[in-house]
Amino acid sequence: MLNLVLFGPPGAGKGTQSQKLIEKYGLIHLSTGDLLRSEITQGTELGLEAKKLMDHGILVPDEVVIGMISHKLDANRDAKGFIFDGFPRTVAQAEALDKLLESKNAPISVMIALEVNDDELEKRLLLRGKDSGRPDDANPEVIRKRIKEYNDKTAPVAGFYKNQNKFKSINGIGSVGEIFDGISNVIGSY
Ligand code: AMP
Repeated sequence: MLNLVLFGPPGAGKGTQSQKLIEKYGLIHLSTGDLLRSEITQGTELGLEAKKLMDHGILVPDEVVIGMISHKLDANRDAKGFIFDGFPRTVAQAEALDKLLESKNAPISVMIALEVNDDELEKRLLLRGKDSGRPDDANPEVIRKRIKEYNDKTAPVAGFYKNQNKFKSINGIGSVGEIFDGISNVIGSY
């Protein structure tokens, strides 16, 4: 099983690269952001609660996203592997993911981090906001809060995988194709 964590701040290109990885490697894409937005669209109670935080650029509670991922892992027992996109976002989530995967005997193969500086992220997210219709892409203050949440709570997750010798990083600035080639090179060695 190939289990990838695609890591990086909001706007790093995780979603774009995930789409290409799905095509090439036949993996199941698990994006907690997408799963949460789907709950919002369906008007569930979980979605309504999550929206209050997401619209302000604040992370939703760990137990909410861990529960969603656990459910999806159970629902895809025959998968060739998974791409985790936007998850884990805290060290507690990373620990919980290790436990969930332990029971499947299919640990994380590698974390691949896309490196992009804060100024470029802000520019990309504002541009994306023109088409994405996402309230959290439309407001510069919320964008800055999301980047701050990343730096405060999510960046330490890299250390968790470095300690396991599973961390690789790639320059996230360049053409979509160049970045994808870099990711494919890393995957090729697993
Ligand atoms: P994303 O689509 O990954 O940019 O996520 C959009 C928003 O959903 C984030 O700003 C958070 O509020 C929430 N979210 C998504 N994934 C997570 C996660 N793993 N942990 C906590 N909050 C999350």
